[in-house]
Amino acid sequence: MTATSVPTQMHAISTETRSTVDDVLDYARRRALYEDVPLDKPMTPRDLSRLASGSITADGIGARRAIALFENVLAPACLSTDHPGYLSFIPSAPTKAALAFDVVVSASAIYGGSWMEGAGAVFAENEVLHWLAGEFGMPQGSGGVFVQGGTIGNLSALVTARDAARRRNRDAGRADPGRWLVVCSAEAHSSIASAAAVMDVDVVTADVDADGRLHGASVSRVLDEHGDAVFAVVATGGTTNFGIVDDIADVGAAAKEHGVWFHVDGAYGLAAMLVESMRPAFAGVELADSVIVDPHKWLFAPFDACALIYREPSLALSAHTQQAEYLDTLTGKPDWNPSDLAVQLTRRARGLPLWFSLATHGTEPYRAAIAHGVDLAARIADEIRERDELSLVRDPQLSVVVFRREGWTLADYDAWSSRLLEEQHAFVVPSSHAGEPVLRFAIVSPLTTFELLTGILDTLR
Ligand SMILES: *Cc1c(COP(=O)(O)O)cnc(C)c1O
Repeated sequence: MTATSVPTQMHAISTETRSTVDDVLDYARRRALYEDVPLDKPMTPRDLSRLASGSITADGIGARRAIALFENVLAPACLSTDHPGYLSFIPSAPTKAALAFDVVVSASAIYGGSWMEGAGAVFAENEVLHWLAGEFGMPQGSGGVFVQGGTIGNLSALVTARDAARRRNRDAGRADPGRWLVVCSAEAHSSIASAAAVMDVDVVTADVDADGRLHGASVSRVLDEHGDAVFAVVATGGTTNFGIVDDIADVGAAAKEHGVWFHVDGAYGLAAMLVESMRPAFAGVELADSVIVDPHKWLFAPFDACALIYREPSLALSAHTQQAEYLDTLTGKPDWNPSDLAVQLTRRARGLPLWFSLATHGTEPYRAAIAHGVDLAARIADEIRERDELSLVRDPQLSVVVFRREGWTLADYDAWSSRLLEEQHAFVVPSSHAGEPVLRFAIVSPLTTFELLTGILDTLR
């Protein structure tokens, strides 16, 4: 320890800590307001070691140098997922209000897990969750929590579903099955299989029809065959690879008929329900026992946030509330404690950036920004149809467009994709469908334009 190191050095209000806060907020302001966000690209571990190692020392390198290292070396080695040409996986595109408010959430040291500690933040998060539940047609009394991402949202919902099934068996004096089963389509997100692995349950995939969608009949067949072993049926409200929306009403009706929990995974696509013309595609969401949608995808919030909503939140409390002497003062009350609704305890009030942006702008601009993605996907699909060297793999339903360059192998796609990123033009990685390599545009940012997309298509000639 050097002579100047005192325990309060890092926490006290001093010239040094003031300038650190100023420098960090200045950088945050610069980054939030870049006129042209750089796309950037990854660096090799060797290059990063050469350029960026040695920052952790006994006496520190100082805020100025640490920020410079971040701004000049580390940040450029991270892709900007909000770049309009970032079209892979599912992009992010936080509103300026939402991303700025994320800084406030950090500055406020709010514990978002309990009402006792975070009442104001929890209230605001619940305003957003109740608004979303209303948009999805879920009944009064629905409620939930913002969790880290769709993976944890799906896991938490399925844990609640199994707990409810176990309770039902116990109440009826029935034995639990040897293996619990969850039913979904082969197009369901990988996080369902991941949740099943964590829970040590099995996934049964029900066949999709020729339209790629899961319908009630194939779900009913699986339910008839496996009976009481099935604890949940999952419909996908917008698959990740294609944006396909299952026949939610039909699948939901089949689940209800068999008395099985009905979960809708709308991590990416459910946001489209905010667009009036898209609502019919999602009919049946109102039947769900649980739904998820990721605000960090198509609701323009920063990482990381998944809205998990239950039809009967009390069922989640039974499944998730942690019991311990040191928690008794929290759990012994009728308070709304977000921790108790999912696999988590300590939680950031990660719904606040979305709350602030919604409060600032109102809901209408959200509808317009989401509609932009749907419209742009339809326009670029038309353009792809017109081009001889390209063909659409299927008509886009939401804002994902999947297509092929005739005659190209995976190696051709990979080389093209690397070149596109190297030139800082766009980030489009190949995907695959039925064993065939394909290209895929996932459109989220309202700043992504038709011209930008046709510019990319021009490089495929
Ligand atoms: C992205 C996605 C998930 C997983 O969400 P994360 O936030 O990445 O954990 C689950 N389901 C679907 C349909 C998705 O698109």
